[in-house]
Amino acid sequence: MKFGGTSMAGTERIRRVANIVRKQAAGGNQVAVVVSAMAGETDRLINFCREANALYDAAEYDVVVASGEQVTAGLLALTLQSIGCPARSWLGWQLPLKTIESHASARVESIDGEGLIAAMERGEIAVIPGFQGVSDLNRITTMGRGGSDTSAVAVAAAVHADRCDIYTDVDGVYTTDPRIVAKARKLRAVTYEEMLELASVGAKVLQTRSVGLAMKENVRVQVLSSFVDDDAASADDYPGTMIVSEEEMNALVEKGEMERQHVTGIAHDKNEAKIILTRVPDRPGSVAHIFDPLAKASINVDMIIQNVGRDKGETDVTFTVPQSDLARAQALLEDRREEIGFNRIITDSKIAKISVVGVGMKSHAGVAATMFRSLADRGINIQAITTSEIKVSVMIDEDETELAVRVLHTAYGLDAPDEAA
Ligand code: ASP
Ligand code: MG
Repeated sequence: MKFGGTSMAGTERIRRVANIVRKQAAGGNQVAVVVSAMAGETDRLINFCREANALYDAAEYDVVVASGEQVTAGLLALTLQSIGCPARSWLGWQLPLKTIESHASARVESIDGEGLIAAMERGEIAVIPGFQGVSDLNRITTMGRGGSDTSAVAVAAAVHADRCDIYTDVDGVYTTDPRIVAKARKLRAVTYEEMLELASVGAKVLQTRSVGLAMKENVRVQVLSSFVDDDAASADDYPGTMIVSEEEMNALVEKGEMERQHVTGIAHDKNEAKIILTRVPDRPGSVAHIFDPLAKASINVDMIIQNVGRDKGETDVTFTVPQSDLARAQALLEDRREEIGFNRIITDSKIAKISVVGVGMKSHAGVAATMFRSLADRGINIQAITTSEIKVSVMIDEDETELAVRVLHTAYGLDAPDEAA
């Protein structure tokens, strides 16, 4: 079981969490619980680091920010004990949860499940602070923002759990953002692949890395809400959204428990910015000159279009970068104007990326055509397109985001049926 920051924000809420945990244990399950810091706490701790030393050392940053989860883990263990459940906390270094030597963005290397399994067999509830680990040099590491999800999946894999239930403030994964489309539907199940695409294109329910790890380790993940009434369905009855392998999904479809759709969900992302370099020489190596320095600066380039060369052996190159990296990218490119040989640099951060995602499109033609037609009918201009086996993304004007998402949700038949009058 994993509980996010809003579920852990304050002793009152921790008490609710303890009750949910107690119920699972009382139902005959052995449980390990991974917790986040209280909502807002990690931001507060990061601010302290900035105030202390603007050029802070990442290793000391980790010492500071990992503390938020230590507090909630201890508090949950105490609360569980107060309601008669044997519990103890296991900090990252005590497990140990080994990570690579990379501060603030570490990855799990290995995790020892022995101690946890023995404790759980004794009837003890194991409480583990998410986000933190220990490096080979015996220093505390953290796993990037939202990293507790990844801790939870790693622990689930280490103890060979039947399921990793991620409790959060939403009750599952939806066909699209319910704040935009009132008729969005909660999905009973999505595949790892779909969830990876949805997460990386802006449907932020889980840390993307946790989904990748779950896929690799074959951990079945359920996303569900911790904000439910006492008489709500048990997690064992799957009230949330299950994230599963394609085989399990196919089995669900065969049993008639899931409908096979061409498109599973629609995501939008307003956090990218567009860069156009005009009149770049159309010759081998040009594009490498543009993207090498960005790669060295760890700036992630997403959509790329190189237009057809003009008569003078020149071409325009358009691509997107995260909005937060736009200024840096622009400066790097300006510095290399001579070397790359472009004429003008034009930027625009008022763009959005809309993506339709679904494993169903692997075996169904026409998904992209439906997208382009539906957007055209509403006069929405497409500025760039990218596709993968299970995704089609387009770049549009940011102001048209909501309209585009609504139109596509209807076009792919994802709208929930009207409530019976
Ligand atoms: N507390 C960390 C964060 O806010 C890790 C997490 O909650 O997943 O990013
Ligand atoms: Mg989170």
